[in-house]
Amino acid sequence: MVSEITLEKSRKMFEKAKTLIPGGVSSPVRAIKPYPFYTASANGSRIKDLDGNEYIDYCLAYGPAVLGHNHPVIKEAIRQQLDKGWLYGTPTELEVTLAEKVASYYPSIDMLRFVSTGTEATMSALRLARGFTRRNKFIKIEGGFHGAHDAVLVKAGSGATTLGEPDSLGIPADFTKHTLQAPYNDIETMTALVEKNRDDLAAVIIEPVLGNIGPVLPLPGYLEELRKLTEENDVLLIFDEVITGFRLAMGGAQEFFGVVPDMTTLGKIVGGGLPIGVFGGKREIMEMIAPSGPVYQAGTFSGSPCSVAAGIAMVDYLEEENIHAKLNSAGDYMRAVLSEIIEDEGLDYNVCGIGSMFKIFFGDMPHNYQEVLKCDKEGYLAFFHRMLASGVFLPPSQFETNFISAAHNDIDIEKTLEAYAENL
Ligand code: PLP
Repeated sequence: MVSEITLEKSRKMFEKAKTLIPGGVSSPVRAIKPYPFYTASANGSRIKDLDGNEYIDYCLAYGPAVLGHNHPVIKEAIRQQLDKGWLYGTPTELEVTLAEKVASYYPSIDMLRFVSTGTEATMSALRLARGFTRRNKFIKIEGGFHGAHDAVLVKAGSGATTLGEPDSLGIPADFTKHTLQAPYNDIETMTALVEKNRDDLAAVIIEPVLGNIGPVLPLPGYLEELRKLTEENDVLLIFDEVITGFRLAMGGAQEFFGVVPDMTTLGKIVGGGLPIGVFGGKREIMEMIAPSGPVYQAGTFSGSPCSVAAGIAMVDYLEEENIHAKLNSAGDYMRAVLSEIIEDEGLDYNVCGIGSMFKIFFGDMPHNYQEVLKCDKEGYLAFFHRMLASGVFLPPSQFETNFISAAHNDIDIEKTLEAYAENL
């Protein structure tokens, strides 16, 4: 457990927070048991808590901080925007600039719209897919996470082809009855589901790499076959690249794997760490959005100037500094050494990942949600606490991806590997 470090201030803050904020946190993933550390500040690869403990951070705000925290280039872009005001309720040149850049990297995106979160991006993309096709159903992947809106909050059911049941109280079953599920990496089940429902099937939405249970990687050919299947059945393919966008490559997973969907959602990195979401796609689809077309979508904070200014600085910096080459080779190194450690220790674990995403599964190498659920999540949580005590902050769950940032240097990585060797 966390006996070697003091978390007294965080513990007290948690007691107070619980009386004011349900569960003491603003988002459930942050509710580390028995209590989370409360952050005082973060810089580069490091995050500091209220008690003064400093950790090497592989959570990175669940992905956005691809350059590390408090990056001077992003900060300067935000500062410059602050001097000009931070919310107008009118169009800006900034959003046109970022839209042009994003569209240039994503072959699936002719046009796009900015929103404020990844949740809004997938909610709007699905509404648009339904409006464009004039069909109701969509298929999501078991264990795929697309934010916290009603239609996608559906438990991974036992039967891959069963209709969805809401994953949360407060969502009428009527709202999720059009949400179908298929297991990841299983093109046969997907084919049967698509063919059976094609007359009322608007889209398949998928995280190309399942980032919210792992990462779990696509088997060779899976994404290509899914592209072919959806095309042949006249069903839209939506890549949810909220995690993989600008993480695996400038053009996300679609560039990395060379598979082009009909629509794409982005978030996290593309706002430089400020709130943002993007949904985009082919011109004829996007022109269905209001005010061009009849599918309504709107937001006071959409295209928020500071988020967009930070996003432009982020995208430019990633490209100019060729950051993905550095990130991906750091990821390769991390995975290779972790695999050696596991072998040396004779552990029955598996290292998975891609680019700068990595994870050790406490169990067999999973290829889908049901297999991930077999991993030892209690064992993982105990390991998480040992790592924290060693000064390494991993996402506190077996089911969340670890991320590397450009701010992680050789010393950070070697220290982290030593902590793994000690604590596994
Ligand atoms: N889609 C994916 C793949 C995500 O990982 C997330 C969040 O983690 C979302 C959508 C929702 O994004 P947000 O938390 O910005 O609403």
